[in-house]
Amino acid sequence: MLSHQIVIIGGGAGGITVAAQLLTKNPGLDVAIVEPSDKHYYQPAWTLVGGGEYAAEDTRRSEKDCIPLGATWIQDYAVKLDPDNNAVFTQQGQQIQYKYLILAPGIQIDWHLIKGLKEAIGKNGVCSNYAYEYAPYTWETIKNFPGGTAIFTFPATPIKCGGAPQKIMYLADDAFRNNGVRDKSNIIYTTAGPGIFPVKEYAASLLQVIARKKIDVKYRCNLKEIKGDTKEAVFDLTTDDGVSEITIKYDMIHVTPPMSAPDFIKESKLAATTGPAKGWVDVNKSTLQHNVYPNVFSLGDASSLPTSKTAAAVRAQAPVLVANLLAVMTSDSLNGSYDGYTCCPLITGYGKLIFAEFNYENRPTPTFPIDQTQESYLMWLAKKYLLPWLYWNRMLKGHPFERNLLKGKK
Ligand SMILES: Cc1cc2nc3c(=O)[nH]c(=O)nc-3n(C[C@H](O)[C@H](O)[C@H](O)COP(=O)(O)OP(=O)(O)OC[C@H]3O[C@@H](n4cnc5c(N)ncnc54)[C@H](O)[C@@H]3O)c2cc1C
Repeated sequence: MLSHQIVIIGGGAGGITVAAQLLTKNPGLDVAIVEPSDKHYYQPAWTLVGGGEYAAEDTRRSEKDCIPLGATWIQDYAVKLDPDNNAVFTQQGQQIQYKYLILAPGIQIDWHLIKGLKEAIGKNGVCSNYAYEYAPYTWETIKNFPGGTAIFTFPATPIKCGGAPQKIMYLADDAFRNNGVRDKSNIIYTTAGPGIFPVKEYAASLLQVIARKKIDVKYRCNLKEIKGDTKEAVFDLTTDDGVSEITIKYDMIHVTPPMSAPDFIKESKLAATTGPAKGWVDVNKSTLQHNVYPNVFSLGDASSLPTSKTAAAVRAQAPVLVANLLAVMTSDSLNGSYDGYTCCPLITGYGKLIFAEFNYENRPTPTFPIDQTQESYLMWLAKKYLLPWLYWNRMLKGHPFERNLLKGKK
């Protein structure tokens, strides 16, 4: 049996950032990270990989190099949580005792929930930026598209980076124009939701982009099956008259699959049991502390925090979690408070980006002294060059959140 003071499940964006901040503040802490993968991925650049603007290999680094000095890496999957006995059980049969637990295992991609998708993905025009191994095929498909019907989908579940399903579509539209095939192409965006984006100021700009690009948007239209052999996509379309099934023939389809909390979270006592948070780690939306077990915290995609799931949100959550965990350890009051800050850099074409920052109230919270509801070349450069650099060299190293420094917060 292993035993550590602080056990972190997941060594992705959230797990590594929190570990690095904890050990920067107090190098004497005993921190263990349970993470099965020997690679760490900068997922936000997968959209650029799919758009031919970034090499997939450049989004991947050795996990060993990301684990902060002083932390213990347990290379294993967590499979069961027993919060009543402060224990985590792993796939390799280890039992790990903890005093404090931080859950950051990310989101689970449920490829299997779309019939035929697992068989069809990665060939014959069926692509997705939602996995390292498939993102390069998105670019291959877009680059070689001879014209026809191109579909881009958004599922009926919460997903990571809510803007990603449409960002790749705008890049595809530009690429088709550059290759002279846009005139013989029909671009369709199908979303299970009722709107284009939850924040009205950014939605207004996106609707202008969609009109300019002549994209056909179908709302409340949820992909449920891919027929790879006949190149048909089957959807449930909801209207005032009820739900009907429609089938669209495609020449390429970019699929954003349904997602959910990891199964071992859903099956544990740490998951919320009711409401929209059901299945996700049940934490207080302001303090990030578990609503039942005070020695448990969570951040990132697996948490119940009702904001858009992004690495930028993790960047804002980490210092709050760290401050509040350290307060619990010294029996102080919890002063760290998270306002739902998240950021979705909405690529609207090559060299164009709407830097959408917002909070729990879906109100814009711009960092820069420009009109961030408008497309900007500068923000595109930030997405392509500055943000990856900040991720690897600042965020994962435990440095303070630059935005907070700009805003005069700790
Ligand atoms: C195509 C795409 C585009 C995106 N675009 C953006 C963007 O533009 N801006 C932005 O800010 N964000 C973007 N994101 C989202 C961002 O990558 C995630 O929100 C962020 O990585 C969440 O951090 P996390 O720590 O919660 O999860 P992750 O970073 O996914 O890390 C989870 C870790 O947990 C590990 N794990 C899983 N299961 C277990 C287990 N059972 N036991 C132990 N460890 C486990 C995984 O191996 C992984 O390392 C994008 C994501 C994708 C896929």
